[in-house]
Amino acid sequence: MTDNGHSVTASAIKAKGVFIDNQWRPSNSGKVIDVHAPANGMAFAEIAAGDAVDIDLAVAAARRAFETGAWSKLAAFERGRFLSRLGLAVLDHAEELALLEARDTGKPIKQARADIQACARYFEFYGGAADKFHGETIPFLNGYLVATEREPHGVTGHIIPWNYPAQMFGRSLAPALATGNATVMKPAEDACLSTLRLAELAAEVGFPEGAINVVPGLGVEAGAALISHPDVGFLSFTGSPEVGVLVQTEAARNHISCTLELGGKSPQIVFADVDLDSALPSLVNAIVQNAGQTCSAGSRLLVERSSYDRVIEAVVERFSALQAGTPEMDLDLGALINPRQKKRVETFIEQTQEAGIPLLAQGSIADGAPAAGYYVAPRLFGPVPRANTLAREEVFGPVLSVIPFDDEADAVALANDTDFGLIAGVWTRDAKRGTRVARQIRGGQVYINAYGAGGGIELPFGGTRKSGHGREKGMAALHDFTTLKTIVIKHD
Ligand code: NAP
Ligand code: MG
Repeated sequence: MTDNGHSVTASAIKAKGVFIDNQWRPSNSGKVIDVHAPANGMAFAEIAAGDAVDIDLAVAAARRAFETGAWSKLAAFERGRFLSRLGLAVLDHAEELALLEARDTGKPIKQARADIQACARYFEFYGGAADKFHGETIPFLNGYLVATEREPHGVTGHIIPWNYPAQMFGRSLAPALATGNATVMKPAEDACLSTLRLAELAAEVGFPEGAINVVPGLGVEAGAALISHPDVGFLSFTGSPEVGVLVQTEAARNHISCTLELGGKSPQIVFADVDLDSALPSLVNAIVQNAGQTCSAGSRLLVERSSYDRVIEAVVERFSALQAGTPEMDLDLGALINPRQKKRVETFIEQTQEAGIPLLAQGSIADGAPAAGYYVAPRLFGPVPRANTLAREEVFGPVLSVIPFDDEADAVALANDTDFGLIAGVWTRDAKRGTRVARQIRGGQVYINAYGAGGGIELPFGGTRKSGHGREKGMAALHDFTTLKTIVIKHD
Protein backbone atom coordinates (compact mmCIF):
# COMPACT_ATOMS: atom_id res chain seq x y z
CA MET A 1 0.00 0.00 0.00
CA THR A 2 1.21 3.49 -0.73
CA ASP A 3 0.03 7.00 0.02
CA ASN A 4 -2.09 8.57 -2.67
CA GLY A 5 0.02 10.46 -5.15
CA HIS A 6 3.06 8.25 -4.49
CA SER A 7 1.63 5.02 -5.85
CA VAL A 8 2.88 2.97 -8.76
CA THR A 9 3.16 5.36 -11.67
CA ALA A 10 2.57 2.42 -14.01
CA SER A 11 -1.01 2.13 -12.80
CA ALA A 12 -3.33 2.49 -15.76
CA ILE A 13 -6.50 2.46 -13.68
CA LYS A 14 -6.52 5.09 -10.94
CA ALA A 15 -8.41 4.67 -7.70
CA LYS A 16 -11.73 6.49 -7.83
CA GLY A 17 -12.46 6.20 -4.12
CA VAL A 18 -15.31 4.47 -2.36
CA PHE A 19 -18.75 4.18 -3.95
CA ILE A 20 -21.43 5.51 -1.61
CA ASP A 21 -24.85 7.00 -2.42
CA ASN A 22 -24.29 6.44 -6.15
CA GLN A 23 -21.12 8.48 -6.29
CA TRP A 24 -17.40 8.21 -5.88
CA ARG A 25 -15.98 9.81 -2.77
CA PRO A 26 -12.36 10.09 -1.72
CA SER A 27 -11.62 7.48 0.91
CA ASN A 28 -11.06 8.69 4.45
CA SER A 29 -7.40 7.72 4.56
CA GLY A 30 -6.54 8.78 1.01
CA LYS A 31 -4.45 5.63 0.79
CA VAL A 32 -4.57 3.27 -2.16
CA ILE A 33 -3.81 -0.40 -2.73
CA ASP A 34 -1.94 -1.52 -5.84
CA VAL A 35 -3.69 -4.15 -7.93
CA HIS A 36 -1.55 -6.74 -9.70
CA ALA A 37 -2.40 -8.79 -12.76
CA PRO A 38 -1.90 -12.46 -11.83
CA ALA A 39 -0.98 -13.25 -15.45
CA ASN A 40 2.26 -11.23 -15.30
CA GLY A 41 2.64 -9.92 -11.76
CA MET A 42 2.51 -6.28 -12.91
CA ALA A 43 0.62 -3.55 -11.08
CA PHE A 44 -1.98 -2.25 -13.51
CA ALA A 45 -4.50 -0.50 -11.27
CA GLU A 46 -5.08 0.86 -7.83
CA ILE A 47 -8.09 0.89 -5.54
CA ALA A 48 -8.93 3.02 -2.55
CA ALA A 49 -8.11 1.56 0.86
CA GLY A 50 -11.46 2.09 2.55
CA ASP A 51 -11.50 1.97 6.33
CA ALA A 52 -13.93 2.09 9.26
CA VAL A 53 -14.90 5.71 8.55
CA ASP A 54 -15.85 4.88 4.96
CA ILE A 55 -17.80 1.83 6.12
CA ASP A 56 -19.65 4.02 8.58
CA LEU A 57 -20.65 6.41 5.78
CA ALA A 58 -21.70 3.52 3.56
CA VAL A 59 -23.82 1.93 6.29
CA ALA A 60 -25.43 5.32 7.00
CA ALA A 61 -26.25 5.73 3.29
CA ALA A 62 -27.79 2.26 3.17
CA ARG A 63 -29.67 2.93 6.39
CA ARG A 64 -31.19 6.07 4.79
CA ALA A 65 -32.24 4.13 1.69
CA PHE A 66 -33.88 1.63 4.00
CA GLU A 67 -35.45 3.96 6.58
CA THR A 68 -36.80 6.54 4.14
CA GLY A 69 -38.21 3.75 2.03
CA ALA A 70 -36.41 5.07 -1.08
CA TRP A 71 -35.47 1.47 -1.75
CA SER A 72 -37.24 -0.71 0.79
CA LYS A 73 -40.73 0.70 0.23
CA LEU A 74 -40.72 0.50 -3.53
CA ALA A 75 -43.29 -1.98 -4.77
CA ALA A 76 -41.65 -5.37 -5.18
CA PHE A 77 -42.15 -5.26 -8.94
CA GLU A 78 -40.40 -1.87 -9.07
CA ARG A 79 -37.38 -3.24 -7.24
CA GLY A 80 -37.49 -6.15 -9.66
CA ARG A 81 -37.41 -3.73 -12.57
CA PHE A 82 -34.24 -2.09 -11.28
CA LEU A 83 -32.59 -5.48 -10.95
CA SER A 84 -33.68 -6.49 -14.44
CA ARG A 85 -32.34 -3.23 -15.85
CA LEU A 86 -29.00 -3.87 -14.19
CA GLY A 87 -28.99 -7.36 -15.69
CA LEU A 88 -29.45 -5.84 -19.15
CA ALA A 89 -26.75 -3.24 -18.48
CA VAL A 90 -24.36 -6.05 -17.51
CA LEU A 91 -25.09 -7.77 -20.83
CA ASP A 92 -24.60 -4.48 -22.69
CA HIS A 93 -21.18 -4.10 -21.04
CA ALA A 94 -20.34 -7.81 -21.08
CA GLU A 95 -17.11 -7.64 -23.03
CA GLU A 96 -15.76 -4.64 -21.10
CA LEU A 97 -16.53 -6.39 -17.81
CA ALA A 98 -15.08 -9.72 -18.97
CA LEU A 99 -11.80 -8.12 -20.02
CA LEU A 100 -11.56 -6.34 -16.67
CA GLU A 101 -12.39 -9.53 -14.75
CA ALA A 102 -9.87 -11.59 -16.71
CA ARG A 103 -7.11 -9.07 -16.13
CA ASP A 104 -7.88 -8.69 -12.46
CA THR A 105 -8.18 -12.40 -11.65
CA GLY A 106 -5.90 -13.93 -14.31
CA LYS A 107 -8.59 -16.34 -15.52
CA PRO A 108 -9.00 -17.37 -19.18
CA ILE A 109 -11.19 -14.92 -21.07
CA LYS A 110 -13.81 -17.59 -21.82
CA GLN A 111 -14.24 -18.16 -18.09
CA ALA A 112 -14.51 -14.42 -17.45
CA ARG A 113 -17.14 -14.14 -20.20
CA ALA A 114 -19.13 -16.96 -18.60
CA ASP A 115 -18.83 -15.23 -15.22
CA ILE A 116 -20.29 -12.00 -16.59
CA GLN A 117 -23.19 -13.89 -18.13
CA ALA A 118 -23.81 -15.50 -14.73
CA CYS A 119 -23.68 -12.07 -13.06
CA ALA A 120 -26.36 -10.82 -15.46
CA ARG A 121 -28.44 -13.95 -14.80
CA TYR A 122 -28.50 -13.22 -11.05
CA PHE A 123 -30.06 -9.82 -11.69
CA GLU A 124 -32.50 -11.27 -14.23
CA PHE A 125 -33.50 -14.13 -11.96
CA TYR A 126 -34.02 -12.05 -8.81
CA GLY A 127 -35.53 -9.22 -10.86
CA GLY A 128 -38.22 -11.68 -11.90
CA ALA A 129 -38.50 -13.21 -8.43
CA ALA A 130 -38.92 -9.95 -6.48
CA ASP A 131 -42.73 -9.89 -6.76
CA LYS A 132 -43.22 -13.66 -6.59
CA PHE A 133 -41.83 -14.30 -3.12
CA HIS A 134 -44.66 -14.18 -0.62
CA GLY A 135 -45.99 -15.35 2.69
CA GLU A 136 -48.82 -17.73 3.60
CA THR A 137 -52.09 -17.78 5.44
CA ILE A 138 -52.35 -20.25 8.29
CA PRO A 139 -55.56 -22.01 9.42
CA PHE A 140 -56.07 -21.08 13.08
CA LEU A 141 -58.95 -20.64 15.50
CA ASN A 142 -62.38 -19.60 14.30
CA GLY A 143 -62.62 -15.81 13.96
CA TYR A 144 -58.94 -15.31 13.14
CA LEU A 145 -57.02 -14.62 9.98
CA VAL A 146 -53.30 -15.37 10.21
CA ALA A 147 -50.83 -14.26 7.58
CA THR A 148 -47.06 -14.47 7.35
CA GLU A 149 -44.95 -11.86 5.67
CA ARG A 150 -41.27 -11.83 4.72
CA GLU A 151 -39.48 -8.66 5.79
CA PRO A 152 -36.02 -7.42 4.86
CA HIS A 153 -33.32 -7.28 7.54
CA GLY A 154 -32.49 -3.62 6.86
CA VAL A 155 -28.86 -3.00 5.93
CA THR A 156 -27.09 -6.14 4.78
CA GLY A 157 -23.30 -6.45 4.80
CA HIS A 158 -21.61 -8.47 2.04
CA ILE A 159 -18.02 -9.68 2.12
CA ILE A 160 -16.88 -11.52 -0.98
CA PRO A 161 -13.65 -13.16 -2.15
CA TRP A 162 -11.48 -12.60 -5.21
CA ASN A 163 -12.16 -15.80 -7.17
CA TYR A 164 -15.40 -14.76 -8.90
CA PRO A 165 -15.94 -11.07 -8.05
CA ALA A 166 -18.57 -10.28 -10.69
CA GLN A 167 -20.53 -13.47 -10.06
CA MET A 168 -20.37 -12.88 -6.32
CA PHE A 169 -21.61 -9.32 -6.76
CA GLY A 170 -24.74 -10.73 -8.40
CA ARG A 171 -25.11 -13.77 -6.20
CA SER A 172 -24.84 -11.86 -2.95
CA LEU A 173 -26.48 -8.53 -3.76
CA ALA A 174 -29.35 -9.44 -6.11
CA PRO A 175 -31.43 -11.51 -3.63
CA ALA A 176 -30.74 -9.02 -0.82
CA LEU A 177 -31.94 -6.14 -2.98
CA ALA A 178 -34.93 -8.04 -4.38
CA THR A 179 -36.31 -8.40 -0.85
CA GLY A 180 -35.84 -4.71 0.01
CA ASN A 181 -32.57 -4.69 1.92
CA ALA A 182 -30.09 -1.86 1.33
CA THR A 183 -26.57 -3.17 0.83
CA VAL A 184 -22.93 -2.50 1.66
CA MET A 185 -20.29 -4.64 0.00
CA LYS A 186 -16.63 -5.04 0.92
CA PRO A 187 -15.04 -6.89 -2.00
CA ALA A 188 -11.58 -8.51 -1.83
CA GLU A 189 -8.56 -6.28 -2.34
CA ASP A 190 -6.99 -8.83 -4.71
CA ALA A 191 -9.71 -8.54 -7.35
CA CYS A 192 -12.61 -6.13 -7.12
CA LEU A 193 -12.48 -3.88 -10.19
CA SER A 194 -15.55 -5.47 -11.77
CA THR A 195 -17.58 -4.93 -8.59
CA LEU A 196 -16.73 -1.22 -8.64
CA ARG A 197 -17.76 -0.96 -12.28
CA LEU A 198 -20.97 -2.88 -11.56
CA ALA A 199 -21.85 -0.45 -8.78
CA GLU A 200 -21.40 2.39 -11.26
CA LEU A 201 -23.68 0.63 -13.73
CA ALA A 202 -26.31 0.24 -11.02
CA ALA A 203 -26.24 4.01 -10.48
CA GLU A 204 -26.45 4.57 -14.24
CA VAL A 205 -29.62 2.47 -14.54
CA GLY A 206 -31.21 4.53 -11.77
CA PHE A 207 -30.95 2.58 -8.52
CA PRO A 208 -31.89 4.94 -5.66
CA GLU A 209 -28.99 6.37 -3.68
CA GLY A 210 -27.79 4.12 -0.89
CA ALA A 211 -29.26 0.85 -2.20
CA ILE A 212 -25.84 -0.40 -3.32
CA ASN A 213 -22.64 0.84 -1.67
CA VAL A 214 -19.22 -0.66 -2.32
CA VAL A 215 -16.20 0.05 -0.13
CA PRO A 216 -12.97 -1.55 -1.35
CA GLY A 217 -10.20 -2.05 1.18
CA LEU A 218 -8.43 -4.55 3.38
CA GLY A 219 -10.33 -7.24 5.23
CA VAL A 220 -8.73 -6.37 8.54
CA GLU A 221 -9.82 -2.72 8.19
CA ALA A 222 -12.90 -2.22 6.02
CA GLY A 223 -14.05 -5.85 6.37
CA ALA A 224 -13.67 -5.90 10.14
CA ALA A 225 -15.55 -2.60 10.41
CA LEU A 226 -18.44 -3.91 8.32
CA ILE A 227 -18.91 -7.20 10.17
CA SER A 228 -18.94 -5.47 13.55
CA HIS A 229 -21.08 -2.48 12.59
CA PRO A 230 -24.10 -2.18 14.93
CA ASP A 231 -26.40 -0.85 12.17
CA VAL A 232 -25.96 -3.88 9.94
CA GLY A 233 -28.86 -6.32 10.20
CA PHE A 234 -27.45 -9.35 8.40
CA LEU A 235 -24.09 -10.56 7.08
CA SER A 236 -23.35 -12.56 3.95
CA PHE A 237 -19.80 -13.91 3.78
CA THR A 238 -17.92 -16.01 1.25
CA GLY A 239 -14.28 -16.85 1.92
CA SER A 240 -12.08 -18.84 4.27
CA PRO A 241 -13.33 -20.84 7.28
CA GLU A 242 -11.04 -18.77 9.52
CA VAL A 243 -12.60 -15.43 8.60
CA GLY A 244 -15.99 -17.14 8.62
CA VAL A 245 -15.54 -17.73 12.33
CA LEU A 246 -14.84 -14.01 12.84
CA VAL A 247 -17.95 -13.09 10.87
CA GLN A 248 -20.14 -15.43 12.88
CA THR A 249 -18.63 -14.18 16.14
CA GLU A 250 -19.34 -10.55 15.25
CA ALA A 251 -22.84 -11.48 14.10
CA ALA A 252 -23.43 -13.13 17.47
CA ARG A 253 -22.16 -10.04 19.31
CA ASN A 254 -24.70 -7.91 17.43
CA HIS A 255 -27.45 -10.54 17.74
CA ILE A 256 -27.90 -10.88 13.98
CA SER A 257 -27.69 -13.87 11.68
CA CYS A 258 -25.37 -14.58 8.79
CA THR A 259 -24.74 -16.90 5.89
CA LEU A 260 -21.28 -18.38 5.50
CA GLU A 261 -19.96 -19.99 2.33
CA LEU A 262 -16.52 -21.32 3.19
CA GLY A 263 -15.40 -23.73 0.51
CA GLY A 264 -15.04 -27.48 0.56
CA LYS A 265 -13.24 -30.68 -0.34
CA SER A 266 -15.89 -31.91 -2.69
CA PRO A 267 -15.89 -35.53 -3.91
CA GLN A 268 -16.57 -36.89 -7.37
CA ILE A 269 -17.60 -40.51 -6.83
CA VAL A 270 -16.95 -42.72 -9.85
CA PHE A 271 -18.51 -46.19 -9.85
CA ALA A 272 -17.25 -48.94 -12.14
CA ASP A 273 -20.35 -48.68 -14.35
CA VAL A 274 -19.59 -45.01 -15.17
CA ASP A 275 -20.10 -43.74 -18.70
CA LEU A 276 -16.49 -42.65 -18.77
CA ASP A 277 -16.60 -40.72 -22.05
CA SER A 278 -19.32 -38.46 -20.76
CA ALA A 279 -17.85 -38.17 -17.24
CA LEU A 280 -14.26 -37.44 -18.18
CA PRO A 281 -14.53 -33.73 -19.12
CA SER A 282 -16.34 -32.99 -15.84
CA LEU A 283 -13.96 -35.05 -13.70
CA VAL A 284 -11.04 -32.96 -14.92
CA ASN A 285 -12.70 -29.58 -15.41
CA ALA A 286 -14.15 -29.58 -11.90
CA ILE A 287 -10.65 -29.13 -10.46
CA VAL A 288 -9.14 -27.06 -13.25
CA GLN A 289 -11.84 -24.43 -13.63
CA ASN A 290 -10.59 -21.11 -12.26
CA ALA A 291 -7.27 -22.87 -11.52
CA GLY A 292 -8.95 -24.81 -8.73
CA GLN A 293 -9.84 -21.59 -6.89
CA THR A 294 -13.50 -22.49 -6.69
CA CYS A 295 -15.38 -23.23 -3.49
CA SER A 296 -17.17 -26.12 -5.19
CA ALA A 297 -14.05 -27.50 -6.93
CA GLY A 298 -14.21 -31.28 -7.32
CA SER A 299 -10.92 -31.84 -5.52
CA ARG A 300 -11.31 -35.51 -4.53
CA LEU A 301 -11.72 -38.13 -7.23
CA LEU A 302 -13.07 -41.27 -5.55
CA VAL A 303 -12.83 -44.27 -7.85
CA GLU A 304 -14.25 -47.77 -7.37
CA ARG A 305 -11.28 -50.06 -7.01
CA SER A 306 -12.42 -52.56 -9.64
CA SER A 307 -12.23 -49.88 -12.35
CA TYR A 308 -9.34 -47.88 -10.90
CA ASP A 309 -6.78 -48.55 -13.65
CA ARG A 310 -9.21 -47.88 -16.50
CA VAL A 311 -10.51 -44.61 -15.02
CA ILE A 312 -7.10 -43.33 -14.00
CA GLU A 313 -5.61 -44.06 -17.41
CA ALA A 314 -8.25 -41.87 -19.05
CA VAL A 315 -7.92 -39.08 -16.47
CA VAL A 316 -4.12 -39.13 -16.72
CA GLU A 317 -4.25 -38.72 -20.48
CA ARG A 318 -6.53 -35.71 -20.25
CA PHE A 319 -4.76 -34.19 -17.27
CA SER A 320 -1.32 -34.36 -18.93
CA ALA A 321 -2.60 -32.23 -21.81
CA LEU A 322 -3.81 -29.36 -19.56
CA GLN A 323 -2.16 -26.00 -20.04
CA ALA A 324 -2.06 -22.85 -17.95
CA GLY A 325 -1.66 -19.47 -19.64
CA THR A 326 -2.70 -15.83 -19.82
CA PRO A 327 -6.32 -14.70 -20.20
CA GLU A 328 -5.68 -13.99 -23.90
CA MET A 329 -4.20 -17.45 -24.52
CA ASP A 330 -7.54 -18.71 -23.23
CA LEU A 331 -6.30 -22.18 -22.29
CA ASP A 332 -7.56 -24.62 -19.66
CA LEU A 333 -6.63 -22.45 -16.70
CA GLY A 334 -4.97 -19.18 -15.77
CA ALA A 335 -2.67 -18.04 -12.98
CA LEU A 336 -3.48 -18.18 -9.29
CA ILE A 337 -4.61 -14.95 -7.70
CA ASN A 338 -1.43 -13.88 -5.87
CA PRO A 339 2.02 -15.07 -4.82
CA ARG A 340 0.69 -16.11 -1.40
CA GLN A 341 -1.86 -18.50 -2.89
CA LYS A 342 0.73 -19.83 -5.35
CA LYS A 343 3.13 -20.52 -2.48
CA ARG A 344 0.35 -22.15 -0.47
CA VAL A 345 -0.50 -24.53 -3.33
CA GLU A 346 3.16 -25.30 -3.99
CA THR A 347 3.61 -26.16 -0.33
CA PHE A 348 0.75 -28.69 -0.56
CA ILE A 349 2.46 -30.19 -3.63
CA GLU A 350 5.86 -30.41 -1.90
CA GLN A 351 4.36 -32.04 1.19
CA THR A 352 2.54 -34.57 -0.96
CA GLN A 353 5.74 -35.47 -2.78
CA GLU A 354 7.68 -35.68 0.48
CA ALA A 355 5.04 -38.12 1.76
CA GLY A 356 5.90 -40.36 -1.22
CA ILE A 357 2.46 -40.10 -2.83
CA PRO A 358 2.78 -40.85 -6.57
CA LEU A 359 2.38 -38.00 -9.05
CA LEU A 360 0.16 -39.58 -11.70
CA ALA A 361 0.09 -36.68 -14.13
CA GLN A 362 1.13 -33.08 -14.48
CA GLY A 363 -0.13 -30.43 -16.87
CA SER A 364 2.09 -27.62 -18.10
CA ILE A 365 2.55 -23.88 -18.15
CA ALA A 366 2.30 -22.73 -21.75
CA ASP A 367 5.29 -21.24 -23.56
CA GLY A 368 4.85 -17.50 -23.54
CA ALA A 369 3.13 -17.33 -20.17
CA PRO A 370 5.13 -14.62 -18.34
CA ALA A 371 7.60 -16.04 -15.82
CA ALA A 372 6.47 -13.41 -13.29
CA GLY A 373 2.86 -14.67 -13.45
CA TYR A 374 1.52 -16.78 -10.61
CA TYR A 375 1.14 -20.05 -12.52
CA VAL A 376 0.98 -23.55 -11.09
CA ALA A 377 0.93 -26.57 -13.41
CA PRO A 378 -2.02 -28.86 -12.59
CA ARG A 379 -1.14 -32.01 -10.60
CA LEU A 380 -2.87 -35.37 -10.25
CA PHE A 381 -1.82 -37.41 -7.21
CA GLY A 382 -2.88 -40.89 -6.25
CA PRO A 383 -3.62 -43.09 -4.56
CA VAL A 384 -3.74 -40.56 -1.71
CA PRO A 385 -4.00 -42.16 1.75
CA ARG A 386 -7.28 -41.18 3.40
CA ALA A 387 -5.56 -39.60 6.40
CA ASN A 388 -3.19 -37.47 4.30
CA THR A 389 -3.63 -33.70 4.30
CA LEU A 390 -4.28 -33.73 0.56
CA ALA A 391 -7.31 -35.95 1.11
CA ARG A 392 -8.75 -33.66 3.75
CA GLU A 393 -7.74 -29.98 3.36
CA GLU A 394 -8.89 -27.47 0.79
CA VAL A 395 -5.95 -26.64 -1.49
CA PHE A 396 -7.69 -23.96 -3.57
CA GLY A 397 -5.48 -24.78 -6.54
CA PRO A 398 -5.30 -27.19 -9.50
CA VAL A 399 -4.42 -30.30 -7.47
CA LEU A 400 -6.61 -33.41 -7.70
CA SER A 401 -6.39 -36.30 -5.21
CA VAL A 402 -7.40 -39.77 -6.36
CA ILE A 403 -8.64 -42.16 -3.69
CA PRO A 404 -9.92 -45.70 -4.38
CA PHE A 405 -12.99 -47.15 -2.64
CA ASP A 406 -14.32 -50.70 -2.29
CA ASP A 407 -18.10 -50.53 -2.55
CA GLU A 408 -21.11 -48.24 -2.19
CA ALA A 409 -20.97 -48.04 1.60
CA ASP A 410 -17.26 -47.27 1.50
CA ALA A 411 -17.85 -44.58 -1.12
CA VAL A 412 -20.41 -42.82 1.06
CA ALA A 413 -18.23 -43.04 4.17
CA LEU A 414 -15.25 -41.70 2.25
CA ALA A 415 -17.23 -38.91 0.61
CA ASN A 416 -18.38 -37.73 4.04
CA ASP A 417 -14.98 -38.16 5.67
CA THR A 418 -13.84 -34.52 5.79
CA ASP A 419 -14.82 -31.55 7.92
CA PHE A 420 -16.48 -29.98 4.87
CA GLY A 421 -19.81 -30.63 3.14
CA LEU A 422 -20.53 -28.49 0.09
CA ILE A 423 -21.24 -30.37 -3.13
CA ALA A 424 -20.65 -33.81 -4.66
CA GLY A 425 -20.86 -35.67 -7.96
CA VAL A 426 -21.96 -39.29 -8.37
CA TRP A 427 -21.18 -41.08 -11.61
CA THR A 428 -23.05 -44.32 -12.28
CA ARG A 429 -25.43 -45.85 -14.81
CA ASP A 430 -27.45 -47.32 -11.94
CA ALA A 431 -30.16 -44.73 -11.24
CA LYS A 432 -31.23 -46.30 -7.95
CA ARG A 433 -27.71 -46.34 -6.62
CA GLY A 434 -27.10 -42.77 -7.73
CA THR A 435 -30.17 -41.63 -5.83
CA ARG A 436 -29.32 -43.70 -2.75
CA VAL A 437 -25.81 -42.31 -2.58
CA ALA A 438 -26.92 -38.74 -3.24
CA ARG A 439 -29.29 -38.86 -0.28
CA GLN A 440 -26.51 -40.00 2.08
CA ILE A 441 -24.00 -37.33 1.10
CA ARG A 442 -23.44 -34.51 3.54
CA GLY A 443 -23.63 -31.25 1.62
CA GLY A 444 -25.84 -28.72 -0.07
CA GLN A 445 -25.86 -30.03 -3.63
CA VAL A 446 -25.35 -33.46 -5.18
CA TYR A 447 -25.12 -34.02 -8.91
CA ILE A 448 -25.73 -37.39 -10.52
CA ASN A 449 -23.89 -37.86 -13.82
CA ALA A 450 -23.12 -34.15 -13.85
CA TYR A 451 -21.08 -31.71 -11.80
CA GLY A 452 -20.89 -28.03 -11.18
CA ALA A 453 -22.67 -25.38 -9.27
CA GLY A 454 -21.32 -22.30 -10.97
CA GLY A 455 -23.89 -21.95 -13.70
CA GLY A 456 -27.01 -22.82 -11.76
CA ILE A 457 -28.38 -19.48 -10.60
CA GLU A 458 -31.73 -21.21 -9.95
CA LEU A 459 -30.27 -23.94 -7.71
CA PRO A 460 -30.06 -23.48 -3.93
CA PHE A 461 -26.41 -23.71 -2.92
CA GLY A 462 -24.52 -23.81 0.36
CA GLY A 463 -22.86 -26.07 2.84
CA THR A 464 -22.79 -27.75 6.19
CA ARG A 465 -20.16 -27.77 8.93
CA LYS A 466 -16.83 -26.24 7.83
CA SER A 467 -18.33 -25.37 4.43
CA GLY A 468 -20.62 -22.93 6.21
CA HIS A 469 -24.37 -22.56 6.49
CA GLY A 470 -27.29 -20.80 4.88
CA ARG A 471 -28.34 -21.03 1.26
CA GLU A 472 -27.59 -18.75 -1.64
CA LYS A 473 -28.93 -18.92 -5.20
CA GLY A 474 -32.44 -19.86 -6.23
CA MET A 475 -35.54 -18.86 -4.29
CA ALA A 476 -33.87 -20.16 -1.12
CA ALA A 477 -31.61 -17.09 -0.91
CA LEU A 478 -34.70 -14.91 -0.53
CA HIS A 479 -35.50 -16.73 2.71
CA ASP A 480 -32.08 -16.03 4.18
CA PHE A 481 -32.22 -12.35 3.26
CA THR A 482 -35.55 -11.90 5.04
CA THR A 483 -37.12 -12.54 8.42
CA LEU A 484 -40.59 -13.97 8.92
CA LYS A 485 -43.40 -12.06 10.62
CA THR A 486 -46.73 -13.62 11.60
CA ILE A 487 -49.72 -11.28 11.75
CA VAL A 488 -52.74 -12.52 13.70
CA ILE A 489 -56.04 -10.75 13.06
CA LYS A 490 -59.16 -11.39 15.16
CA HIS A 491 -62.18 -10.47 13.09
CA ASP A 492 -65.11 -11.97 15.05
P1 NAP B 1 -10.30 -14.58 3.21
O1 NAP B 1 -9.24 -13.91 4.00
O2 NAP B 1 -11.34 -15.32 3.95
O3 NAP B 1 -10.95 -13.45 2.28
C1 NAP B 1 -12.32 -13.39 1.94
C2 NAP B 1 -12.84 -11.97 2.18
O4 NAP B 1 -12.83 -11.69 3.56
C3 NAP B 1 -12.01 -10.88 1.52
O5 NAP B 1 -12.86 -9.84 1.07
C4 NAP B 1 -11.16 -10.41 2.66
O6 NAP B 1 -10.63 -9.11 2.48
C5 NAP B 1 -12.14 -10.46 3.80
N1 NAP B 1 -11.53 -10.48 5.13
C6 NAP B 1 -10.30 -10.92 5.49
N2 NAP B 1 -10.10 -10.74 6.81
C7 NAP B 1 -11.22 -10.18 7.31
C8 NAP B 1 -11.62 -9.75 8.60
N3 NAP B 1 -10.82 -9.85 9.67
N4 NAP B 1 -12.85 -9.21 8.75
C9 NAP B 1 -13.68 -9.09 7.71
N5 NAP B 1 -13.34 -9.46 6.44
C10 NAP B 1 -12.13 -10.01 6.25
O7 NAP B 1 -9.64 -15.57 2.17
P2 NAP B 1 -8.21 -15.45 1.43
O8 NAP B 1 -7.15 -15.06 2.40
O9 NAP B 1 -8.40 -14.57 0.26
O10 NAP B 1 -7.99 -16.94 0.95
C11 NAP B 1 -7.53 -17.92 1.88
C12 NAP B 1 -8.22 -19.25 1.68
O11 NAP B 1 -9.63 -19.08 1.84
C13 NAP B 1 -8.09 -19.88 0.31
O12 NAP B 1 -6.92 -20.58 0.15
C14 NAP B 1 -9.30 -20.76 0.25
O13 NAP B 1 -9.05 -21.98 0.88
C15 NAP B 1 -10.34 -19.98 1.03
N6 NAP B 1 -11.24 -19.22 0.14
C16 NAP B 1 -12.46 -19.72 -0.12
C17 NAP B 1 -13.30 -19.04 -0.99
C18 NAP B 1 -14.65 -19.57 -1.32
O14 NAP B 1 -15.16 -19.26 -2.40
N7 NAP B 1 -15.28 -20.28 -0.45
C19 NAP B 1 -12.88 -17.86 -1.59
C20 NAP B 1 -11.63 -17.35 -1.27
C21 NAP B 1 -10.81 -18.04 -0.41
P3 NAP B 1 -9.19 -8.86 1.78
O15 NAP B 1 -8.79 -10.09 1.06
O16 NAP B 1 -9.44 -7.72 0.88
O17 NAP B 1 -8.22 -8.50 2.88
MG1 MG C 1 -5.75 -8.78 -9.04
